[in-house]
Amino acid sequence: MTSSLRIAIVGAGPGGLTLARILHRHGLAACVFERERGPLERPQGGTLDLHVESGQLALQLAGLEDAFRRIARYEDQGARLMDQHGRLLFADPNPDDGDRPEVDRTQLRQILLDSLPEGCVQWGVNINQIRPAGAARWTLHQGEITHGPFDLVVGADGAWSRLRPLLSPYLPQYSGLTFIEFGIDDVDRQHPHIATLVGRGSLQVLGGAKAIIVQRNANAHLRGYAIFRVPTEWAAKHLSLAALKAQFEGWHPDILALFEAANETVLARHIHALPVGHCWSHRQGLTLIGDAAHLMSPFGGEGVNAAMLDAAELAHHLLSTPDCSAAVQAYENHMFERVIPAAQGSAEGAATQLSHDSLALSLAHLRQHLTPQ
Ligand SMILES: Cc1cc2nc3c(=O)[nH]c(=O)nc-3n(C[C@H](O)[C@H](O)[C@H](O)COP(=O)(O)OP(=O)(O)OC[C@H]3O[C@@H](n4cnc5c(N)ncnc54)[C@H](O)[C@@H]3O)c2cc1C
Repeated sequence: MTSSLRIAIVGAGPGGLTLARILHRHGLAACVFERERGPLERPQGGTLDLHVESGQLALQLAGLEDAFRRIARYEDQGARLMDQHGRLLFADPNPDDGDRPEVDRTQLRQILLDSLPEGCVQWGVNINQIRPAGAARWTLHQGEITHGPFDLVVGADGAWSRLRPLLSPYLPQYSGLTFIEFGIDDVDRQHPHIATLVGRGSLQVLGGAKAIIVQRNANAHLRGYAIFRVPTEWAAKHLSLAALKAQFEGWHPDILALFEAANETVLARHIHALPVGHCWSHRQGLTLIGDAAHLMSPFGGEGVNAAMLDAAELAHHLLSTPDCSAAVQAYENHMFERVIPAAQGSAEGAATQLSHDSLALSLAHLRQHLTPQ
């Protein structure tokens, strides 16, 4: 490692911030450029379970175990499965038993931000071009403004990465599945029957090749996803709670009550993925981590975990290998192989979870992984 290495990270998501933090902890500075104007510009999304061998390991290497324990909700690890007629098919009897505690994304981002020096993240910088600047260096551009040059630019800029086209011709492909995200506030006091329906953790309701997944977040908030197959244009014309109710017409009234209790604002998330096994030929001074490198559908619950492990492994190689290019290649070669099973599992999940077989498959999965009732 050479401390004079100039490193830029594009994107202050979980991947980019974990990388910046681990490097900083070991004396290697990096600049993070983030297009959002501040940490609270946009809701960061729902709850996540961080896995011991990836997300939690990365936080340990970042020296943030204590901060993680303060935000981890071990009591919310339960899982329930119902069919569209409201029949409960599975309920995990020990929702507070397990090693995959839930954390809220906004809180995860905050503990990472709090661990970085002032000015490390430059907010409101939307990088729209990356240009070669001679001798394997690169500059970043935001309109007329130039940042750099840098010896290494890490694209941690998510699904529609600006950096990826410099390494790979692939674009994410639409899986056919659209998630409509909705929220329910103050559920314990205002909607106790819904709090009971969902339980301490998450509820999946499956039927007719559609799904509703609802997860308990911190502060008595529920976040739900209504999932079905429509063209991406559907949401532009139909995005409303009324259109959601119409999609799930005939489902049990207790389940439709979720839409009655939801806030008016709903968001469409079109689920895209890069091909399983996505990789590129090494190019000096550039690399990708997280969704930019291996966007997957969320069915495996692996995306954030893989992004944080990428960050930890890239940091490890940069800190322990004197030659930057060799360090990046070692990271890339291992990462390309490591993410294949997770990407494969997520692709299979996207194909089967909303099929005629989805109830039987989900039930078998839950029974295999959790103690049945
Ligand atoms: C509906 C849904 C549910 C999910 N549930 C889970 C789950 O339960 N568990 C799990 O592990 N994963 C889940 N995922 C996946 C997870 O969200 C991603 O894998 C994860 O956020 C990837 O982290 P990242 O740091 O690579 O990218 P991101 O989180 O996408 O962060 C990228 C950052 O880069 C910034 N950026 C982008 N372009 C630019 C630019 N040009 N200039 C500057 N900044 C830029 C963005 O603003 C953003 O802050 C889910 C995804 C979806 C859509």
